[in-house]
Amino acid sequence: MIRFEHVTKRYPDGTTAVDDLSFEVAEGELVTLVGPSGCGKTTTMKMVNRLIDPTEGRILVDGEDIAGVDPVKLRRRIGYVIQQVGLFPHKTVLENTATVPQLLGWSRRKARERAAELLDLVGLDPAVHGDRYPDQLSGGQRQRVGVARALAADPPVLLMDEPFGAVDPVVREHLQSEFLRLQRQVRKTVLFVTHDIEEAVRLGDRMAVYGAGRVEQFDTPATVLGAP
Ligand code: ADP
Ligand code: ADP
Repeated sequence: MIRFEHVTKRYPDGTTAVDDLSFEVAEGELVTLVGPSGCGKTTTMKMVNRLIDPTEGRILVDGEDIAGVDPVKLRRRIGYVIQQVGLFPHKTVLENTATVPQLLGWSRRKARERAAELLDLVGLDPAVHGDRYPDQLSGGQRQRVGVARALAADPPVLLMDEPFGAVDPVVREHLQSEFLRLQRQVRKTVLFVTHDIEEAVRLGDRMAVYGAGRVEQFDTPATVLGAP
């Protein structure tokens, strides 16, 4: 579903953030990208939805070289969740979640129905949380709204960049379990960045273990943990 072929990214200042990356993520697979800060995980993600483009090599999504795909169209197929989810502060949770369906041309009523379904899917009660504003939610709840919003257009691919990085450990564990349950229902192709090895092991069908700019191991958690 996502294929990296000899992908290298050099930033204009000469930093090589990613060096000759090649791996493939199957449809419905959740791959965690794990490694210390600065090793190229976020750069890898940003190239998939064309926030930045590779210097060399190519990336295929669903068999298609994304270099030729309009970034706006590409992003309809790819949900993106980051650590500091940017919710619209003056819109309610329901309105925030309904934004994407409305942009896709759904009627206001249909979009709100869809938003309520999505909130329910991520473990928020639309009747309780739907009319709140983002600053009336806990950090964990805001991240859930971020996940709901990313799922709104039903994209086959989800990019998650340390989505649970800013919440405390107890809440994080809770969000991880919920996310696993959700993933079993929706079966998205997921790239999930974390610097937390336990999170990478727990969530990943396979793990891409980064060292400076390169993937040093790409395998199941059991194999990675069992490796010498
Ligand atoms: P990670 O997500 O693993 O923390 P990044 O992909 O953010 O790593 O960064 C990889 C490397 O690229 C780091 O050395 C970082 O400083 C550098 N880098 C990231 N963004 C830029 C940029 N816009 N310009 C120059 N260097 C950058
Ligand atoms: P979570 O496990 O989702 O992170 P928390 O334990 O942080 O939840 O929050 C518990 C409850 O407190 C939630 O029902 C949330 O709505 C409420 N809450 C947290 N912060 C605020 C706030 N700033 N204003 C109103 N309610 C809040």
